Amino acid sequence: MQHITILGSTGSIGLSTLDVIARHLDRYTVYALTAQSRVDELAQQCGQFRPQVAVVGTAEAAQKLRGLLREKGVATQVEYGEAALCAVSSASACDTVMAAIVGAAGLAPTLAAARAGKKVLLANKEALVMSGQLLMDAVGASGAVLMPIDSEHNAIFQCLPAGYSRVPEKHGIAKILLTASGGPFLKRPLDTLDKVTCEEAVAHPKWVMGRKISVDSATMMNKGLEVIEAYWLFGVPATDIDVVIHPQSVVHSMVSYVDGSVLAQLGNPDMRTPIAHALAYPERIASGVAPIDLVQIAQLTFEQPDLQRFPCLKLAYDALHAGGSAPAVMNAANEVAVQAFLDRRIGFRTINDLIARVMDALPLCSIADIESVCEQDRRAREIALSNIQPS
Ligand code: NAD
Ligand code: MG
Repeated sequence: MQHITILGSTGSIGLSTLDVIARHLDRYTVYALTAQSRVDELAQQCGQFRPQVAVVGTAEAAQKLRGLLREKGVATQVEYGEAALCAVSSASACDTVMAAIVGAAGLAPTLAAARAGKKVLLANKEALVMSGQLLMDAVGASGAVLMPIDSEHNAIFQCLPAGYSRVPEKHGIAKILLTASGGPFLKRPLDTLDKVTCEEAVAHPKWVMGRKISVDSATMMNKGLEVIEAYWLFGVPATDIDVVIHPQSVVHSMVSYVDGSVLAQLGNPDMRTPIAHALAYPERIASGVAPIDLVQIAQLTFEQPDLQRFPCLKLAYDALHAGGSAPAVMNAANEVAVQAFLDRRIGFRTINDLIARVMDALPLCSIADIESVCEQDRRAREIALSNIQPS
């Protein structure tokens, strides 16, 4: 029996994870569930999965949740705040942590899970982008197992040889080909991009996801974050990570070998496949996802990304080449910019301009510890906010 903590259980990835777990209650039991503010949903999940602990964002949310659980006769213990998130991620009663909080808020509990030697199912790509070296060092030191949940990275993992050492040359690996759907604005005339609405930006043509990652997909910053994520997970240099636009979202990514073989993983765009893969690895379990019907799909197409349309992708490659604090600064500026766009305070095109401005404003420095990551994150947010007109 695996005892699982789900960080961000009310989100899109959290819900898909619970859906897979509910199909295999003989293998998995929930140790802890966490959510920032959606207390009613969390109470319902506690009633169904009976975790030992539930964690919310604030004391008020905790009080409300305790009341709801009392009414339901559910004995789950309720905590709140970042220390409690770290505690449920590192508790000895938990074996596996699904890291599915969105953004920098997930860094501390994800790192706590890695330091405690857990099996870490990583959806929270921002944590790895901000602190790649620190997180990979923590995994190495504790013997934690890091499993990629992001569909592209999970696909790559499946196309790599068993026992892959993070040294691509040793395994005859030439390149990683990350596929990207291109998001909702792939064909939108460039001169209309500044007029797009939040509703249009979050309406992803292939995937149903949280709002932040949906906007990231529309700007293709999501793919930029994923390039950095691939660099850390697989030890492949930026020059050997290519992005290929593939609007059908059937091929989830590929590994190209020196003998000319290209291995791909295919499937319907449904996160329950990578979640089930990572939960059960090296076994396979049913996820509830139907197999693809290739005859029905009929055509798979591929094209090169246009960096004029998607300048955020270039910013991410620049940040990866620069190293040090650059990815953390870029990530923080992006989080502020996306929130400002969702709050209708800046236009879509301004997201990129704002990130570029913050990256230019902050001198590059090295990252020695988690405190320096947090300091760079804080400074980047401050500069980004100071560049947004007060509403
Ligand atoms: P979401 O917005 O649907 O859910 C986010 C979850 O995090 C919620 O449970 C929320 O309560 C919690 N949360 C938000 N802010 C928090 C805070 N400050 N402190 C503690 N908890 C907080 O997001 P999502 O789409 O599920 O994405 C989660 C992560 O997974 C992101 O990093 C995203 O990039 C990654 N991811 C998502 C998908 C997808 O299909 N949704 C695919 C690949 C990767
Ligand atoms: Mg992805």
